[in-house]
Amino acid sequence: MIIGNRPLHAATTLVLDGQDLRGELLHEVITVVAQARGEELADLLGAARRIRLARLGRAVSLCAIVNARSGRCSENCAFCAQSSHFDTGAPCHPFLDHERILDAARTMRAHGARRFGIVLSGLTPSREDFERLRRAVRGVADLGMLPDASCGILSRARFEELRSDGLHLYHHNLETARSFFPEICTTHDYEDDVQAVRDALDAGLGVCSGGIFGLGESWEQRAELALTLRELGVDSVPVNFLSPIPGTPMERRPPLAPEEALKIVALLRFILPSAHLRICGGRKTVFGPTRGLAPLEAGASGLMIGDYLTTSGLDAAADRQGIRDAGWEIEDA
Ligand code: SF4
Repeated sequence: MIIGNRPLHAATTLVLDGQDLRGELLHEVITVVAQARGEELADLLGAARRIRLARLGRAVSLCAIVNARSGRCSENCAFCAQSSHFDTGAPCHPFLDHERILDAARTMRAHGARRFGIVLSGLTPSREDFERLRRAVRGVADLGMLPDASCGILSRARFEELRSDGLHLYHHNLETARSFFPEICTTHDYEDDVQAVRDALDAGLGVCSGGIFGLGESWEQRAELALTLRELGVDSVPVNFLSPIPGTPMERRPPLAPEEALKIVALLRFILPSAHLRICGGRKTVFGPTRGLAPLEAGASGLMIGDYLTTSGLDAAADRQGIRDAGWEIEDA
């Protein structure tokens, strides 16, 4: 590590010592991360990797999802192909047949995914779709996988029903910082999403909540999202990078440069040292077909394999092989 990089050195020591990064030192680290290039960038990524190894070892958690109900969402999230506010041509279908969901789960289990998420577009599912979701959760659990679900904002009673069905993680992204959210969504309040995360935690569920980066948010706002997740006690964090979708307000925004995406992962690792940081949508867009595992060297500890909701992913078998070749261990594979 560059000896002169005092904030990075101090922050690494502090976090490895089990303390939270906060206050003046956090702001100094945000500046270091934002400006890191060349040797400083290598130092930053190396420090994030050390923290990850100290807290989580060499295990890489693999998850996969199925887009169980796609499109026609009432919300206007500016990056999303599934919003009914934008003409994106993304797939639109009602809740998939039960067997099709289980077939998708079996396929991804064969590729090493331990967790399988059932994803529904929209803010709140109808009673009929909720019952279909409950059946799918039970079916995925019966396959010996850990069922997760992304199903909008639910009542406490519904969270408890899902927990009794064997749901492992409720997935609900906050998407971005509270201070930036009005720039990307005006159809519901940030606080509604935060409350949904709190309600799921109160119902005894694990929560997977993160966001999407590259929407125009600042480095301070990236840290702000991480601090909100830390305050909520979220320990599984999906990290998505923008894939600009034609027809959305973000269609002309360029994808993040790979180095910037790696710096985001490193910053999150400093603020959320023990959380599983799962690299999800945008991995292929940002890193291309050959550098898709690079975030593991910057502090990430999980990957979504297979396809994403409306975009294709990287080859799952190649991901698995690459993880092993790089000396990482696939969790419970
Ligand atoms: S991100 Fe979720 S809530 Fe927002 S438009 Fe897309 S499906 Fe709807």
